[in-house]
Amino acid sequence: MRETFNFSAGPATLPEAVLQQAAAEMLDWHGCGHSVMEMSHRGKQYISIHEQAEADLRELMSIPENYKVLFLQGGATLQFSALAMNLMRENRQADYIHTGQWCKKAIAAAKQFGTVNIAASSEEDGYNHVPAPETWLLQKDASYVHICLDETIGGVEYFFTPHTGDVPLVSDISSTFLSRPIDVSQYGMLYGGAQKNIGPAGLTIVIVRDDLLGHALPGTPQPLDYKANADADSMLNTPPTFAVYVAGLVFQWLKQQGGLSGIEKLNQEKAALLYSAIDESSFYSNPVAVQNRSRMNVPFTLADAALDAEFLKGAEAQRLIQLKGHRSVGGMRASIYNAMPVQGVQRLVEYMQAFEKSHG
Ligand SMILES: *Cc1c(COP(=O)(O)O)cnc(C)c1O
Repeated sequence: MRETFNFSAGPATLPEAVLQQAAAEMLDWHGCGHSVMEMSHRGKQYISIHEQAEADLRELMSIPENYKVLFLQGGATLQFSALAMNLMRENRQADYIHTGQWCKKAIAAAKQFGTVNIAASSEEDGYNHVPAPETWLLQKDASYVHICLDETIGGVEYFFTPHTGDVPLVSDISSTFLSRPIDVSQYGMLYGGAQKNIGPAGLTIVIVRDDLLGHALPGTPQPLDYKANADADSMLNTPPTFAVYVAGLVFQWLKQQGGLSGIEKLNQEKAALLYSAIDESSFYSNPVAVQNRSRMNVPFTLADAALDAEFLKGAEAQRLIQLKGHRSVGGMRASIYNAMPVQGVQRLVEYMQAFEKSHG
């Protein structure tokens, strides 16, 4: 096993078995004599990789047949604009639930294309919770309702599915993608970048219900038009072939872990370990409402911020890396995605306890 545990929020740690397989196949994929990176995206070898990845993702998430799966580029950030261009209807009104820094960016992007109604916000409370759904001021004629199921920076996650009636529910799931089962049929669209919990940077996945396709705003560039991408099976132009391949290996690895309910159990165990270490100490704290604490991204602060640098240095000496919090909030953040072994979290907790003893 690798000795370093990487708590980066993204690009993030990947399963060691997947990296080993990719390494073994790097020069010569399945005896074809060249690497996946060198394959034509129109050739039958790459197409088989692409189709298998989509089939495995559909199986893992139980994606209904009336949903398209798109393998795109440009990151979740480009989707902030693309989803508005594809989903805004005549009145160009959309509802957003504002729970953090990624929502803020999604809102700013959507404002270029229509009117954004902030139906609920936790901004004034420092993004420490998800506003209760009965307080949301939703509009009946909104084109869609946008949420972010897991705010990667604040560490705020939904553990319920909001009901938005006939208005399609849209979620950024970049950092909670494949960490637990999600009922796809409750959403009009789900999207996220791969580099948090799925694979290398460069791949962005969109899952969209097919009745929402075909209404992109006039002037939408073709590579951003979901229908054009769906019609071309995500091959409108060159897809991020190597990233799709590695994501496909991760999907197979996840199936070996018992699928999403199997990995969810491990994720619950890891999160419980870390949050109870934080709660049992008077030295560390996490500001998020207990019912919204992210299982994937755990921000925490030390009682004395002057010790931050020393904490990080000591952690690195123990090969616990990338624990520094996002530059906008400071403190620490441990991202404990699917590929983080339980042992990595145990090592972190032991280090935190030892540090508290000597500095607390
Ligand atoms: C990382 C992240 C993004 C931005 O992703 P890019 O791929 O860098 O555009 C957006 N939303 C969430 C929730 C994220 O975690």
